[in-house]
Amino acid sequence: MARCDEMREGEVYYCEHCGLEIEVLEECVHEEGEEAEEVCRIEGFVCCGEPLTLRED
Ligand SMILES: [Zn+2]
Repeated sequence: MARCDEMREGEVYYCEHCGLEIEVLEECVHEEGEEAEEVCRIEGFVCCGEPLTLRED
């Protein structure tokens, strides 16, 4: 799962179904007082109906 507040600069996420890959160039930033849990509640980035997977290599 790739929720925006958990994605770090330089990480690469990919779709296991179609091969799409994205790299994080800038991390998510929230205003003072904003709870990441609230604003990042959406389940994450989805491609082909499935969440993107973190590439670890
Ligand atoms: Zn896909």
